[in-house]
Amino acid sequence: MGQKHQTRSALRLAAEARLEDATPKESPESSQALVHELQVNQIELEMQNEALRQAQHELEESRNRYVDLFESAPVAYVILARDGRLTDANQLATRLLGRTPAQLLQYTFDQFIAPCDRERWKEQSAAVWAGTLDAPQEAELLLQNAEGSQFPAQLQCGALDPSHTGTTMRIAFFDITERAEAAAEIHRLAYFDALTGLPNRRLLLDRLAQTLATSERKGLYGAIVFLDLDDFKVLNDTRGHDAGDRLLAEVGQRLRAGLREGDTVARMGGDEFVVILDGLGPTQESAALLAQNIGEKLRQSIAEPVDLGEFVFHCTTSIGVRLFGPGETQAELLQHADLALYRAKSAGRNRVIFFDPSMQAVLDARGRLEDALGRALREGQLELHYQPRFDGERRVVGAESLLRWRHPKHGLMTPNDFLGIAAQTGLILPIGRWVLEIACAQLATWSQDPATRELTLAVNISALEFRQSDFLDMVRQALDSSGASPEKLTLELTEGATLDSSEETMCRARQLRELGVRLSVDDFGTGWSSLSRLTRLQLQEIKIDRSLVFNMGQAGTDTTLVSAIIALAKSLGLATVAEGVETEAQRHFLAAEGCDTFQGFLFSAPLPLEGFQRLLRHAKPGS
Ligand code: C2E
Ligand code: MG
Ligand code: MG
Repeated sequence: MGQKHQTRSALRLAAEARLEDATPKESPESSQALVHELQVNQIELEMQNEALRQAQHELEESRNRYVDLFESAPVAYVILARDGRLTDANQLATRLLGRTPAQLLQYTFDQFIAPCDRERWKEQSAAVWAGTLDAPQEAELLLQNAEGSQFPAQLQCGALDPSHTGTTMRIAFFDITERAEAAAEIHRLAYFDALTGLPNRRLLLDRLAQTLATSERKGLYGAIVFLDLDDFKVLNDTRGHDAGDRLLAEVGQRLRAGLREGDTVARMGGDEFVVILDGLGPTQESAALLAQNIGEKLRQSIAEPVDLGEFVFHCTTSIGVRLFGPGETQAELLQHADLALYRAKSAGRNRVIFFDPSMQAVLDARGRLEDALGRALREGQLELHYQPRFDGERRVVGAESLLRWRHPKHGLMTPNDFLGIAAQTGLILPIGRWVLEIACAQLATWSQDPATRELTLAVNISALEFRQSDFLDMVRQALDSSGASPEKLTLELTEGATLDSSEETMCRARQLRELGVRLSVDDFGTGWSSLSRLTRLQLQEIKIDRSLVFNMGQAGTDTTLVSAIIALAKSLGLATVAEGVETEAQRHFLAAEGCDTFQGFLFSAPLPLEGFQRLLRHAKPGS
């Protein structure tokens, strides 16, 4: 201020001196011109002053705008000097870093980088300082505030002023916790099972690939362990899905608790769990011993009673183990462990069984059967046989169609030999379609002849077929294209597997009823369903399972059960069919109880079409 004053008075003195010098020498005209010029200059100066004031005002406004923008920006912003120290920070930066602007000047930015990311930051900042970059550097780093709490951040850093590259750096950054959490959630959904929190199938396959690679590198043996709960379905069916879910969550925890940190436990879906045991030992023997111990320990830990709130549940597990050594492939391992599990189940459940090479022979045979079955359908080796059904007067009222495979080498095969594979491979779908088409065509043929036109034909439907979304269309199509009348066609659905109490089942049953076909419950008495629940499905008929018929007279309870089933079915307006009737005594008892229709070796085994037609010619005609 003082200096400015001095400069101004010096200027004034100089101006006065010049005026003094000029005045006497000039004539009055020229002094008048001088005054004029002075006045012009003065006005000009005032105008310049005004322009300057205006420019200064605009500059201030622009600066205020910039400060406001800088301070209240939704992005944190800091400026670093060459030694890494912070020289400026906006409000959001001070908030995120947890220090006041004045305090921040004591810190270097490196101090706010989480230790795990410091190395990465060193490389990135070096590139910015080197000034060789065309564009600002982008990075995702873990930052930590002055109190040490960490957050993921997205950073953009570059030289502040391109002409001063290497002297100041600006860093804009923002907290991406939410985005990182959403990404983590997506990852969790994709790779983890929601119910147990364990890795799912996809992650398991990833881990298995890694484990196989390490096993190869380190020359160590490991094992893959398949576990399946023995009584899960019973719990789910009798106590509901909530109880089932709680059991699965508890089993998941027990498995996790029984293993080492590095082992993977995954839930494959349903009540199936898989464990990968890594680095069990350098020899097959040592690894097998350890795997056996661990498998046994897991089996026992699951067998401990589970407290499910309202009740305590006891659950056993079947376990299949496949050891693996260096150089083995993934697909084979899973298949082998699954086969060992299957063996554990069929050997009586609640046990640990190791895969051994003799099981491979079974697998190979299965593979061959699978191929052959596909060919059988294409090459016309499948046949429908017909087992007649009789009424109380021993008249033929219809038949059940039963599938047979005329195998070129093994001869005539019954469904038990191949339906399992057909269901697993999905071949059951084209096979089922074929069966329906043949059956409907047969019904249409029978309808042409007065002697056979009243015959009904029952077709067995597997659970998989029934659940197909186009099942209804398929039935409609088979009926339409053959011209068979729907009320002569009965669909046999197995209790339990097919007929559950879900909304889908209800809806499907209703649609089929609307088509006009009859619905029958096959193998009744072996599942869990109650008759009253089945009537809600609007079925017309139940088939009393042949095991009940067989045991009648031998075990008192079954005799009572059969009487009760017939009585109850009658009261609900359902027709009854007894299957597997082999003796006159059985027929007599069933007839006395009021059973409507009979089927079994007493009357006839299932017959090829010609045999069935021959039987019709000799039997009493139906009503
Ligand atoms: P199912 O529907 O319960 O069929 C009755 C089974 O009992 C038939 O076995 C039949 O041959 C047998 N049987 C008949 N009378 C007697 C008897 O007096 N005593 C004894 N012990 N058994 C008798 P099959 O033909 O081996 O069929 C077995 C199962 O395969 C059938 O049980 C049915 O569930 C299924 N199945 C058969 N054909 C088809 C088909 O076309 N599609 C589907 N999805 N399943 C089929
Ligand atoms: Mg049947
Ligand atoms: Mg049956």
